[in-house]
Amino acid sequence: MTQATKTHRITLIPGDGIGPEVSSAVISILEAAGAATGVAFEWHRYDAGADSFEKTGEYIPQALYDSIGENRVALKGPVTTPIGEGFASINVTLRQKFELFANFRPVKNLPGLKTRYPGLDLIIVRENMEDLYAGLEHVVVPGVVQALKIITEKGSTRIAKFAFDYARKHDRKKVHAIHKANIMKLSDGLFLRCCRTVAEGFPEVEYREHIVDNTCMQLVMNPFQYDILLTENLYGDILSDLCSAFVGGLGLVPGANLGTECAIFEAVHGSAPDIAGKDMANPTALLQSAVLMLHHINESPTAERVQAGLEQVFREGKTLTKDVGGTSGTKAFAEAVLKAMESPTVHA
Ligand code: ATP
Repeated sequence: MTQATKTHRITLIPGDGIGPEVSSAVISILEAAGAATGVAFEWHRYDAGADSFEKTGEYIPQALYDSIGENRVALKGPVTTPIGEGFASINVTLRQKFELFANFRPVKNLPGLKTRYPGLDLIIVRENMEDLYAGLEHVVVPGVVQALKIITEKGSTRIAKFAFDYARKHDRKKVHAIHKANIMKLSDGLFLRCCRTVAEGFPEVEYREHIVDNTCMQLVMNPFQYDILLTENLYGDILSDLCSAFVGGLGLVPGANLGTECAIFEAVHGSAPDIAGKDMANPTALLQSAVLMLHHINESPTAERVQAGLEQVFREGKTLTKDVGGTSGTKAFAEAVLKAMESPTVHA
């Protein structure tokens, strides 16, 4: 075993629901991969949401903010947001606080897993701070509520720039801006104008525009026509769940919230209360989010070791969780990944 040479301090929010189960599976795999590749982790753990409120009286403790600010990198499990009432989304609050303006969600098939669209490889780049997620809602008069959709030139331009920069750097061919500017002429109209302006600086990347409802139909008919989907916040949220189904469901798709100073890596899925505490959750989505994190902190050999182990388990198809057609639990799946990473046939 290689001696650990570099230690990374990472803020860890295990989350609630299935969060603690998937987080502990992921940590065990990262620790093992790190030990084999000369990388160590110092995990700074914090609760958030209802669990934190019970212990500290705060939904997001100041110490958690401080930790993310210092470490600049966090791995986060899902945190439940009450529906229709209660405290504001922890995810949205953290994205605002640390200006994590880009939400990056690669949707890619894992080897060996039978899916509707074999070979699919698309990316959702979602604006992460504006739109109806600004949380500006108020009662105008009883029975009438107004919610404000905020779209700015600055926010739209920087997310478009992010998508095109990524396309250029990673040799992706096409960017589709997704909108509803036929109805929301001012807000989505501004978003589109910004996308068009940015696109002019990237002549090698094909630029197209699709209306969001048509996009849903087009995606189901033929998702291969898309490469990068560039979206506002709400459309990106909805399209992410739709696209996750193409590659096996929410248990698989990773995500990264990226800003200029900090980054928080978290799965696309929520806290899945229906399967929480039952050893049923698939930790793959959080594990692939952790792989994105490892690349982000320049530990690509560790990332590749984890990804190789994960893909080996999918290729064998013997120890998969129920959501992807298997019969194994979260812990057994994690054990299988650990074993696969040790196997000499898996090249890190
Ligand atoms: P949110 O609005 O908080 O993002 P959501 O509406 O997307 O949440 P989830 O909590 O992600 O909902 O769950 C949706 C469905 O997907 C549930 O049936 C849940 O069990 C399933 N699911 C989500 N994540 C996983 C996972 N990691 N493993 C297995 N099943 C999952």
